[in-house]
Amino acid sequence: MSLHPKPRDSTAVRTADPLELSARVIASGTADEPTNRVTNTLTELDDGIAVVESFSHMVAFSTEAGLVCFDASGALSGAAVAEALRRWSKEPVDSLIYTHGHMDHVGGSGAVAADAEALGHRPPRVVGHANIPVRLQRYEDTNGYNLAINARQFGGVSRQLNLGSLRAGAGRFVGADTLWPDVTYHDHLTVSVGDTDFVLHHDKGETDDHTWAWVPGHRALCVGDFVTWVFPNAGNPQKVQRYPLEWARALRRMQAFEAELLLPAHGLPVRGTAEVNLILGDLASALEGLVDATLELMNDGESLDTIIQSVEVSEDLLSKPWLQPVYDEPEFVVRNIWRLYGGWWDLNPAKLKSAGEAAYAAEIVRLVGSTEKVISRAQEMATAGDFRLACELIELATTAEPESVAAHGARAEIYAARRRIERSLMAKGIYAAASRESTAIIESTLPDQSDQTP
Ligand SMILES: [Zn+2]
Repeated sequence: MSLHPKPRDSTAVRTADPLELSARVIASGTADEPTNRVTNTLTELDDGIAVVESFSHMVAFSTEAGLVCFDASGALSGAAVAEALRRWSKEPVDSLIYTHGHMDHVGGSGAVAADAEALGHRPPRVVGHANIPVRLQRYEDTNGYNLAINARQFGGVSRQLNLGSLRAGAGRFVGADTLWPDVTYHDHLTVSVGDTDFVLHHDKGETDDHTWAWVPGHRALCVGDFVTWVFPNAGNPQKVQRYPLEWARALRRMQAFEAELLLPAHGLPVRGTAEVNLILGDLASALEGLVDATLELMNDGESLDTIIQSVEVSEDLLSKPWLQPVYDEPEFVVRNIWRLYGGWWDLNPAKLKSAGEAAYAAEIVRLVGSTEKVISRAQEMATAGDFRLACELIELATTAEPESVAAHGARAEIYAARRRIERSLMAKGIYAAASRESTAIIESTLPDQSDQTP
């Protein structure tokens, strides 16, 4: 996943040392400044361990036989991350270990390779789970879809970070310079460099290609996106299946190591056995609770709609600074649990073989009497703050009358307003895209004025 600092916080980074900040946030239970920072700044956390906080972080270990780096950050941030690394160490990167194959973690690998070449080093050996090449090939096969969903997913938030930069080359989701793994593994693999062991473990979670590593010499856990300092990205509406229960089980396995240092790929590193245990345990509890509640209702024969309306995460957990639903959100995770354990059908018999949205909308509008009535009711609902109903109604209006400027005008406003009140990047992105779509439709109906320009 990819994050950005909370745009509302103009004070940005005040506490330079991420361990100092995480200690304070965990002790107080509140975040008084952003926890996901994209500074491209390197911090040495311990003798021989550093993190560059970025679009996704690079975690680097210095060994007698060269550097071992976890993740390369994204295509645009890769060069800055490599530069930050070089201010800390000039040693060759022996191994680049991918925690998973998302582009914000592997897209910067071209920059890491270019850095090696510039310094006269051999290219780094790239290590990752066996499903990473499968993922990268899938990205190639679904290039257009991935470009479209990324434009939507990141299109509803502040532009300060140039989030369109996930891809390296114009029109390609996977940049041509992206390094594919040289070494892959299935269940676990110990990578020994110099006298340092990196024990790689595979578990499913945000992805099916995830690696987390135990580094016994430092009592450190490198956990990729298993920990991100936001509510787990296990529900993403536009992406392939995620694995909430497997994710929770991985977090429980990590707890057994009693690590001193937790090194995530987003958010803050954490020091202290109790503190690490707290973070891992809270994330696991949130996911376990959602899975348990959803499966219980599924086992009772309830419909997806009933489950969506009733399952939630306790406010106690959801209020923690490391579980804020500002990226993904619990409701989307519930849908993914349904998708993982059930079929695509939601138990509404009318939806098994539906009428088609256009025919259905036309019929409802005909029953109501006019599109104007539907539009005006949608606006009333939006004004009253009931955006769930407002959006359902305005979709009926624009679907029934796809060329109506009035309907699209209302739709653009309703979704723009909804984007503002939503918290998660996922929802904001989709609602902003809907608003932009209606604005574009209105503009396309305006008379072309270009001929009148002198
Ligand atoms: Zn990520």
